Amino acid sequence: MNFYENTIKNMNKAAKTMNLDPETLLTLSSPQKTLIVSLPVRMDDGTLKIFEGFRVQHSELRGPFKGGFRYFPEVNLDEVKALATEMSFKCAVAGIPYGGGKGGVKCSPKEMSQGELERLTRKYVQAVYQIIGPEHDIPAPDMYTNPQMMAWFMDEYSRLSNKYQPGIVTGKPIEVGGSLGRGTATAQGGAYILEKYMEKNDMKPEGTTVVIQGFGNAGMYAAEILHGMGFTILGVSDSKGGIYSDKAIDPFCVLKDKKEKGSVTDCDEGKTCTNEELLEKPCDILVLAAMENQVTEKNASKIKAKIILELANGPTSAEADAILEKNNVVVIPDILANSGGVTVSYFEWVQNQSGYYWPIEEVDAKLKRAMVEALERILEFQEKHNCSMREGAYISAFDRMDKALKLRGSGAHLKCKVYFNK
Ligand code: GLU
Repeated sequence: MNFYENTIKNMNKAAKTMNLDPETLLTLSSPQKTLIVSLPVRMDDGTLKIFEGFRVQHSELRGPFKGGFRYFPEVNLDEVKALATEMSFKCAVAGIPYGGGKGGVKCSPKEMSQGELERLTRKYVQAVYQIIGPEHDIPAPDMYTNPQMMAWFMDEYSRLSNKYQPGIVTGKPIEVGGSLGRGTATAQGGAYILEKYMEKNDMKPEGTTVVIQGFGNAGMYAAEILHGMGFTILGVSDSKGGIYSDKAIDPFCVLKDKKEKGSVTDCDEGKTCTNEELLEKPCDILVLAAMENQVTEKNASKIKAKIILELANGPTSAEADAILEKNNVVVIPDILANSGGVTVSYFEWVQNQSGYYWPIEEVDAKLKRAMVEALERILEFQEKHNCSMREGAYISAFDRMDKALKLRGSGAHLKCKVYFNK
């Protein structure tokens, strides 16, 4: 089952449990618009390369399309459709007034120079220019895209539209209209949710062990934040592999070695292992912060953690979910656990639109409140329907989208078929 089929399966399951209006499910079962573009980019060696890019706009029922764009060799349309769909649900879960969208370019960013990445980013803006806008579709960072790329994105869009438009993209550096706290927001939001969930279940960070898969925008900060809260970090990994210690590892040491030498596996805080092995190591909490499809029917029964916190999008397959549920492993689902990122993106956009910037305390307090409210609402639905937290999260989102659709009328979700931009 691919990522998109997995997302549809999650939707269908929740729709059945809550007895959702079939027309709402039908409406949300395919994206509103899908754009596929060819991006010709001059490489440093003088050759011309054509990259394939995507922007999928899933739903603008509750507000402008919102969601990041990723640079990755395996990016494909089905994956971007799944991610765009998840964004609509994530924004509805978090209660922020956005729909969902996602983009991506099939490329190998680690092998490209800064100049090549800048030319690619500007080309991507030119190609999607017609369908995005600060009140229509607002991109952001995702896998292997970063604040520098958001700055180029904003600059190119502002140039094309002949006015300064910081609200076209979020996740920008502070110097060009970014928000304080956006860089750490995904991890911080996840930490607030975990903290509240544990409080409700009489658990404390002290003495609770954590393994984190992925050391990018989400995983790296999760390691620092959870360590700071008193959790014991036993293992971490990046795309090259992982390290694990049965005592504790210091995330600041790992970060230093990764920065200086290239990988967390260059740090001797723990014994090296593969990413697959890391997932099966003993721990209380497993944080999945790498990418989709990491816990599947193949390894789900070998997971020893009691709680999984999904900071990545789609890291657990539907088959794995069933196994984990049977084994009483609680999964705090992606559309809740990582919704802190898009929530602070929303705060950034609000600040851009008003031109007034908030101190970090204000960002943090508003983020915490949004995360706790989203969790409480999901737990209520979970109790009402006696279902998993993932189902509760989908039901929470469906409930809001269904109401929006009924208020706006079924024409609110007009569809447009795939079209190509040569
Ligand atoms: N890419 C992030 C996500 O998947 C952030 C999206 C955004 O900030 O718009 O949630």
